[in-house]
Amino acid sequence: MIEAADLTPAMRQYVEIKSRYHDCILFFQMGDFYEMFFEDAITASKILDITLTTRNKNQKDAIPLCGVPCHAASGYIARLVERGFKVAICDQVEDPRTAKGIVKREVVRVVTPGLVIDGEGLEPKENNFIAAILERGGTFGFAALDISTGEFLIAELEDFTGVVSELERIRCREVVLEEKKDLKTSFSKALTEGYTVRINFLPPQYFSLEAARRLLRQTFSDGDVESTFADRAVLLTVCGALLRYCEENQKDCLKHLKLPLEYRPSFHMILDDTARLNLELFTPQSGGEPKGALLNVLDETVTAMGGRKLRWWMNYPLVEPVRIRERLVAVKELFENPGLRYEIRRVLAEIYDLERLGARLAMEMATARDLNALKSSMRSVAIIKELLEACSSPLISSLKMSLDDMPDVRDVIERSIVDDPPLSIREGGIIKEGYDEQLDRDIAISLNAKKCIAALEASERQRTGIGSLKVGYNSVFGYYIEITKANLHLVPSDYVRKQTLVGAERYVSPALKNFEQDVLSAEERRRHREYELFVGIRASIAKEVRRIQRTAEVIATLDVLCSLAEVAQQRNYCCPEVDDGFTIEIDEGRHPVVEAMGFAEPFVPNDTYLDTAENRFLIITGPNMAGKSTYIRQVALIVIMAQMGSFVPASFARIGVVDRIFTRIGASDRLSRGESTFMVEMKEVARILKHATNRSLIVLDEVGRGTSTFDGLSIAWAVAEYIHDEERLKSRTLFATHYYQLTELAKTREGIKNYHVAVREWGDKIVFLRKITRGGTSKSYGIYVAKIAGVPDPVIQRAKEILRNLERGEFDCEGKPKIGRGKEKGSLPVIKQLDLFADEDLLINELKELDVMNLTPLEALNIIYRWKEMIR
Ligand code: ADP
Ligand code: MG
Repeated sequence: MIEAADLTPAMRQYVEIKSRYHDCILFFQMGDFYEMFFEDAITASKILDITLTTRNKNQKDAIPLCGVPCHAASGYIARLVERGFKVAICDQVEDPRTAKGIVKREVVRVVTPGLVIDGEGLEPKENNFIAAILERGGTFGFAALDISTGEFLIAELEDFTGVVSELERIRCREVVLEEKKDLKTSFSKALTEGYTVRINFLPPQYFSLEAARRLLRQTFSDGDVESTFADRAVLLTVCGALLRYCEENQKDCLKHLKLPLEYRPSFHMILDDTARLNLELFTPQSGGEPKGALLNVLDETVTAMGGRKLRWWMNYPLVEPVRIRERLVAVKELFENPGLRYEIRRVLAEIYDLERLGARLAMEMATARDLNALKSSMRSVAIIKELLEACSSPLISSLKMSLDDMPDVRDVIERSIVDDPPLSIREGGIIKEGYDEQLDRDIAISLNAKKCIAALEASERQRTGIGSLKVGYNSVFGYYIEITKANLHLVPSDYVRKQTLVGAERYVSPALKNFEQDVLSAEERRRHREYELFVGIRASIAKEVRRIQRTAEVIATLDVLCSLAEVAQQRNYCCPEVDDGFTIEIDEGRHPVVEAMGFAEPFVPNDTYLDTAENRFLIITGPNMAGKSTYIRQVALIVIMAQMGSFVPASFARIGVVDRIFTRIGASDRLSRGESTFMVEMKEVARILKHATNRSLIVLDEVGRGTSTFDGLSIAWAVAEYIHDEERLKSRTLFATHYYQLTELAKTREGIKNYHVAVREWGDKIVFLRKITRGGTSKSYGIYVAKIAGVPDPVIQRAKEILRNLERGEFDCEGKPKIGRGKEKGSLPVIKQLDLFADEDLLINELKELDVMNLTPLEALNIIYRWKEMIR
């Protein structure tokens, strides 16, 4: 594409470097600017909203160019990375003033979405994961790590859907895959709309078991990863590929990695992306209140670590009652001791993000300010440790035991680092006096020389007889002696002129030069010495990164427990009972988010009783806007909260643990991907029927709504029967529907119970009481809602007529709808409704059910006439 011969040397250098980083946007340092060229310039200028110009303007081979100032680069880099790009930073690595020929340049780091370490690219309360995936013999190896905190997770998963779901669950920002054709197409298609992840395809040599073993041995000298997962080649290999990719792009990023933590899907309640989105756990659905997610209600954490941990707990609710109760007992203790909790949270708020601080330490990126932050945080940790003496719950006691406030490290920092050091670690001014003899000597020399320079002013005035003689300093010329124009005739011969100003001349003298040399060299030595000392101290503390991580972990957990206790008290939640039975019993349950929104209408609490026997399938009917959707979600949210270890919005709750929550709620549209709403709906239904167990909780909202009435009703009907009857399922199910006809199911199935949301009719109006009540509704209130909404009266009247007509259909004793009968005199409106049914089928159905003995000849004729119309 570009002929190297036509280029200037600098551009040739650019092209050469770019060829090695072809998948990156290359930031090429030119003095005070990072410049981008060619395609990069065109892409970046658009995203960053900066001017696109050209190099070699008026020539025909002009090169597109854009640039950003070096000092402001991090914000621009963050924006590119946010959009999924990789950015390679290429710096001038020698001083341009002393360089011979073209300045040497090198790529000093590559920033990718999954390898962000500091500053603008990271959300404090969110992890930043990069993952690798590998398939071998039908098993998927999954490894994910967050280099900003050191967390490292691995899992073996059964299918592709599971892998994608896991990626989305941890909101992975970047993923590494084997270069395979079928993977390339299937992978990006499987991702949920609106979720962006950078995908890198790597050649097969990255996925080598041998190399993986070597790299794991190198990375984890403190744990034998290799033999822990000895017979799990796919896990080891995928870890190896991930580690190698990270190390290649971000040097030194593996030193602080925690030992890989394996998790199995069966350790936790499964929440797929559909459930997470539908239940609005982390983000409200589009168009919803920005604060309308469960996380916003529960997050009262005061540290970034706690914020991330809370997300984690919500993402991975537990399934073992023992472990859940352990958390609940701890929350209860903090709930019952508001004074203590207040104190703990006040101190917690002073603690910095120790996990990320530890990572910066290990990667040699920590500044003197970071060390002081570590020191002050550890002081707070010591106070927390004392406060926890008052606690006796097993979880908190064990947290206290592993809380290390690192007095030794605090002491080192206290002795060495000044209280308010500058940001830069190369300019001196960070090491305390008395810490290092050599440094103290240099400081003394430089101070002494400065004193001598000050004294020189007095002695020179005397020697020259110039009363206005001044000694000064500027950064370009160094120290000088300034003489006003009027006194120039008195200047001694050993002065050398340096600079001319409007009213004065500036000189240097040999004596001044000498002292200056002393100051400068002492200061240079001092800067150097301070840097050296600092790096040494930092390295020695970096060795303790495991201790920092352990403490960070404890602090995070404690913060979450306090947050849950705080919310429980503020919002009047109760401690749920959790067991491995199958009953879900909730008294006066509320929807945590709707309640917290503080709408004018007070929230009406409702009870729930679900089991796997006679109350395993609840059908909830009621008019639009009555509160059906709210109710069924509230049950799911209460279950999730209980299993994450939180109190719940109810006056009493007993939860038999749930292994997975399935949802089918609302109309989610993926039309842009070529799937109709109804297709999505049916896919979700298919997934539920395939994967649900008798421990699952299924929440169905208006299944069948996406298609024509009878079509939808029939599907809803059959789905309900299947879930109820199928031995493998029998899952606890909540089914909200406006198909009041479904209430008939309860007559034929012992596990199905009808409920409705009570409303009161007030003349032609209805009032929502929001109370869930036993029994089904007999009417769809849609027509009333239409009337309230101002639909013209003739339409309303006609709708009532059609409804009466349809209702006459009713159901037979087997529970099959008999709606196809219709009105006497060739009623076209009914037939029009049935457009999606095959007319012949209907005809035969009707014929089968026709009560011939009770027809008058005229009626019979009419019916035959209508049939004829129908099949025409
Ligand atoms: P449906 O699914 O029956 O159409 P929704 O569950 O969407 O109705 O509820 C409609 C609105 O009613 C909700 O936005 C909510 O503000 C309000 N609402 C629902 N349940 C309650 C309740 N128990 N108490 C108070 N307001 C409620
Ligand atoms: Mg609804």
